[in-house]
Amino acid sequence: MPIPLPQQPPRNGSARTTCPYCGVGCVLEVTVEDGRPVKIAAPADAAPNFGMMCPKGALLFKSDAPQRRATVPMMRAAKGAPLEPTTWDAVNRRVAEALHAAPAERLAWYGSGQLDTEASYLFTKLFKGRLRCNHTDTNSRLCMSSAVAGYVHSFGSDGPPTCYDDIEQADVFLIVGANMAANHPVLLNRIRRRRATDDRVRIIVVDPRRTKTAELADLHLPLQPGSDVALLRLLQKHLLAEGCIDQAFVEAHTEGFDGLKAVLDHSGVADLLHQTGLSEASITRAVDILRDTTHRRILSLYCMGTNQSTAGTDKNTALIDLHLMLGAVGVPGAGPFSLTGQPNAMGGRECGYLAHQLPGYRNVTVPEHRAAVEQAWGLAPGTVAAEPGRPAVAMFDAAAQGEVDVLWIACTNPAVSMPDLSVTRHALERTPLVIVQDCLADTETAAYADVLLPAATWGEKTGTMTNSERGVHRSDAAIAPPGKAKADWQIVADIAAACGFTGFDFPDAEAVWSEFVARTSGTACDMSGLTNDALKEAAGALQWPAPAPEPPDRQTTKPPNQKRRYTDRRFPTPSGRARFSNAAPRPTHAQTSAAYPLNLTTGRVAQLSR
Ligand code: SF4
Repeated sequence: MPIPLPQQPPRNGSARTTCPYCGVGCVLEVTVEDGRPVKIAAPADAAPNFGMMCPKGALLFKSDAPQRRATVPMMRAAKGAPLEPTTWDAVNRRVAEALHAAPAERLAWYGSGQLDTEASYLFTKLFKGRLRCNHTDTNSRLCMSSAVAGYVHSFGSDGPPTCYDDIEQADVFLIVGANMAANHPVLLNRIRRRRATDDRVRIIVVDPRRTKTAELADLHLPLQPGSDVALLRLLQKHLLAEGCIDQAFVEAHTEGFDGLKAVLDHSGVADLLHQTGLSEASITRAVDILRDTTHRRILSLYCMGTNQSTAGTDKNTALIDLHLMLGAVGVPGAGPFSLTGQPNAMGGRECGYLAHQLPGYRNVTVPEHRAAVEQAWGLAPGTVAAEPGRPAVAMFDAAAQGEVDVLWIACTNPAVSMPDLSVTRHALERTPLVIVQDCLADTETAAYADVLLPAATWGEKTGTMTNSERGVHRSDAAIAPPGKAKADWQIVADIAAACGFTGFDFPDAEAVWSEFVARTSGTACDMSGLTNDALKEAAGALQWPAPAPEPPDRQTTKPPNQKRRYTDRRFPTPSGRARFSNAAPRPTHAQTSAAYPLNLTTGRVAQLSR
């Protein structure tokens, strides 16, 4: 039986929500009259936006498209038959039967960094815990997974060491492959304000395109696409030659510096410069800015230009190497800060929804991690599969080869967003049961759905997300979802119940959150202190690590809620030291030639349609 709907939002009043568009995570207050939203505002007291919002947040109501909404469950009797409206009972039964009938090896789930944490956690619990299937991955794989790999390699753990308040303390902003003017506008506003307070502040933008962000820069480095590692190694080579490294930090808190030096020795200045396509004068200027920075308060902000690349991990680790050389990490105003494009890419990682992960930044390949999760979920030892599942691209490749029986897609549109659309569309045609869970009924992916599950969207559900700075914020439902649409977490819970699985009878989103944060206790992303009450009382986001307080008689050394990580210069690697990488520059995957003389690159622009 489906779980009863939680209490509906009031018809009149206001609710605090989180903007669903980007990883800044702006808090937006919605005023509701007669069950309809009438006003949207950014509260001045709420972090991280403190009264600011960009046009995307301000125009959220305008993006509402009632005629496009999925409002009732739909199902096809067979491939090629029309999608017909049906009941939740009918779709739950059909999906449950299909999940039971297929071997775990032939199941797959593809999700999104736009799902809230509650839904992400329940998908992970259902697939990895109950269906014994690790073939779960999301569109975060296509963008943020190189940031994850970079942090894990260099620091021993995912998650940025920095916080938004570092913006007000930084002296140099090194913005690499991020058009913040279009993608993280409120943070760029904070940078603008910071620069207005101090004329020593400098902004370097590394981007092949002359974006609106680049126009703000003191120095724009329009490098050749894909030459980021060459540029970073070139800067490091100059800084090393000039003796501008923090020797004490490198010796006491890092390892692998000799490996990096060997890479730098191996790389000639002229060759690196040639790879970047930049002028010698611009490199000299960049080195001057980095060298002369007061107290090494250098904040690197980066996004898809570094992450979404065949050399994404190398770009991430090479950028972190720059910070390690300069000792610019774990101190105010400094550090490598990966900006998340989607609103909850961070939360999904915390839930463990990628193919190799488990909740609490755990990994399916680590026996102790599997055992901890199995015990918490009340499963027999050995239930969670030890092999990582197929990551996103491999998942669709396998489906295109006929190796998947059930493909459940939630809150994303792979028929337009995967790298190889012909493979993706073939996969969607070939898979016997394609389940699409979305708030819209007319997406390109929904056209392939055998079952369409109508989901609530922004403002219609209560849930939590984690922004780029590890800040967790709660959204309250302002209005009811249309028709029969339900919150994503509830759709999963109802189908898990239809499967006959226990452990999914949550009365509301708060209960899901409570269970999830308990799973993070004692892990690198400990959120066990972020109770529902704490989140409700906070004006804005609360950052992790935030362990639950110990009883007075057991209080020991647990760290307090931290804005910044690694302030003690100890890193969660086996040696306690941060690790340099020895990634060398390598040619981009596609090289120009006489036949293909152009290098094309992509990027977003903020454009308001009429
Ligand atoms: Fe929304 Fe991002 Fe704009 Fe804030 S900066 S209002 S989170 S799109």
